[in-house]
Amino acid sequence: MIPVNEKMLGLGEKSSAIREIFEYGNKRRAEIGAENVFDFSLGNPSVPAPMCVNETLVKLLEKEPDSVHAYTSGPGDRNVRASVAEYLNKTFGSEMTYENIYMTCGAAASLTSTLNAVINGGDEVIVFAPFFPEYRVFIEKAGGELVAVKCREDDLTIDARRFEESVTEKTKAVIINSPNNPTGVVISEKQLRDISGVLKRKSAEYGHIIYLISDEPYRELVYGGVKVPFVPDFYGETIICYSFSKSLSLPGERIGYIAVCEKATEWKRLFSAVCGAARSLGFVCAPSIFQKIVPECLGKTSDISVYEKNRNTLVGALTEYGYKLASPDGAFYLFLKSPDISAAAFCERAKKYEILLVPSDSFGFDGYVRIAYCVNPGMIDRALPGFRALAEEYKIKK
Ligand code: PLP
Repeated sequence: MIPVNEKMLGLGEKSSAIREIFEYGNKRRAEIGAENVFDFSLGNPSVPAPMCVNETLVKLLEKEPDSVHAYTSGPGDRNVRASVAEYLNKTFGSEMTYENIYMTCGAAASLTSTLNAVINGGDEVIVFAPFFPEYRVFIEKAGGELVAVKCREDDLTIDARRFEESVTEKTKAVIINSPNNPTGVVISEKQLRDISGVLKRKSAEYGHIIYLISDEPYRELVYGGVKVPFVPDFYGETIICYSFSKSLSLPGERIGYIAVCEKATEWKRLFSAVCGAARSLGFVCAPSIFQKIVPECLGKTSDISVYEKNRNTLVGALTEYGYKLASPDGAFYLFLKSPDISAAAFCERAKKYEILLVPSDSFGFDGYVRIAYCVNPGMIDRALPGFRALAEEYKIKK
């Protein structure tokens, strides 16, 4: 046996359940044609990036190449970082400067850099199930232990009492994700006050700070006038992990940022730890050209009305067929109660109709399936007869 790191080998050999379904979709697309496969597996935005992205890229490419493609400083171009801070201040009333902002390769790099900055070996990090599966990989690689706290079954919101009971002396950080992948739930102000209350009480009881890591790649993806509260307004010890992957439809370009809240105790030290962690992970100087589109695109999004329309079509039809699901306020995922006791078995049966779904055990929560509706609206129309036939197979009562 070759002398490699066994844990890394394991991670490399076993791709995520979501990716496996996506690969199956690629196989079926090659076999029967893309238009006949109804792939709801991956959160890959289907609507194009807004015009500001292309226009800025074209302008940048007309400049001197070395001013565009050169290394920036490790945490990113100073003007870009300043523009992010100004945008946050203008929008949310924070008081940050470029010194609070670290430009990253998307939310994944934001999260790994933040987790490595705050975790010491053996620390616990609380996440709320269902949760984005990569959290486990990120937390464990940083030397921490993931502690999952189940959301309420009835509305998939955070259960503050269960949360409080799960905080221990070893709890170093808590990750929240709103709007949520995989449920689409947006955390309300009341819930944030509850979470903040627990964190303040427990930090005082154990005599150390418990950080709140706010994973926000879906921040702008909300429908029907719903507002996403600004987390640092409720808890100062907050680190925001942002990404432009979803808001600007740029998941392959790897661009996002970390905002270390100015209200955090000794935030400059915390920021330096983030810089050190990012450096140790090799995440210095996020892609230069995509950093430089950021100032022109802050506050803009792709045409998210397409997602809202998709959500309404699916929620309306699936409810009519008898499926149990809530209409989510944000992101682009539906979390549907599996009509089969085994969500995996339901997903297998759905394949008969070329419908590809992700079973919820991938997200640490049994009995549901995730439908990523960031797809072409025509695909939804073509998939609905399959959903109806499945409901009939399961004799779902309306
Ligand atoms: N966090 C959540 C909740 C996500 O859904 C994703 C991607 O789907 C990420 C983080 C990673 O985002 P990025 O592609 O920007 O690294």
